[in-house]
Amino acid sequence: MATIKLDQLNVYYKKGNENIQVLHNFNLSIPQGLIYAIVGPSGCGKSTLLYTLAGIITNYTGTLTINEEKPNPKKQSIGLVPQHYGLLPWKKISSNIHFPQVIRKKQIDSIRESKILEQLQITHTLQKYPNELSGGEQQRVALARAFIQNPDLLLLDEPFSALDALTAEKSRSLFVELWNEHPVTTVLITHNIREAIELAHKIVLVSPTPGTVKHILNYPSEKEVRNKIKEIW
Ligand code: ADP
Ligand code: MG
Repeated sequence: MATIKLDQLNVYYKKGNENIQVLHNFNLSIPQGLIYAIVGPSGCGKSTLLYTLAGIITNYTGTLTINEEKPNPKKQSIGLVPQHYGLLPWKKISSNIHFPQVIRKKQIDSIRESKILEQLQITHTLQKYPNELSGGEQQRVALARAFIQNPDLLLLDEPFSALDALTAEKSRSLFVELWNEHPVTTVLITHNIREAIELAHKIVLVSPTPGTVKHILNYPSEKEVRNKIKEIW
């Protein structure tokens, strides 16, 4: 599991010769084994933050460490659930689930795998292709894939937002059960304030673009979050 430190992090996109700043002096420290929710307006750089933590975006200045080391997908095990789940449509669910371990040439722990698949109620999907699954099943496959690799760090990009209310509720409670058994350091991006309150130990409120940390709230009430958001967005 991981301790994450971001110190004066500035992240940029290249547009021709120009560097466009997406995150500005972003400071955050996440202790091991906690869930931090990141809440901010559309376009403030939340997904960019996740891809930077995942070691995919490297155009940044400042300090970013996971267990005192720079993000490195080859060395660290990072479980990423992208916004649209990132399942490869031409591969069966079983291959999709094994993909992170195959790439990192890691042994597959089949006992851990069967337990997680059972818990997320997707054992029956293994021989199917992603487009043969419901949205809820696809989302749980993406969660399973991340947990099965026993990640040091779990990164979730609005993982429940494409699901209808009932499916999202079911998935959130399955996630909580699973997380309690495998309490991995987690960064959860969400638009949903209630979801952030329900799932996270702390809520980080981010300013409009270029995103910077405005408040870090500790088990706040919904009213407190809404009032703070009114001040900054
Ligand atoms: P959020 O997830 O908070 O909605 P993003 O991190 O996706 O925001 O995007 C932040 C900003 O960076 C937006 O203005 C977006 O248009 C821009 N952006 C995102 N991806 C790219 C890219 N590949 N190239 C250039 N600009 C991008
Ligand atoms: Mg996003």
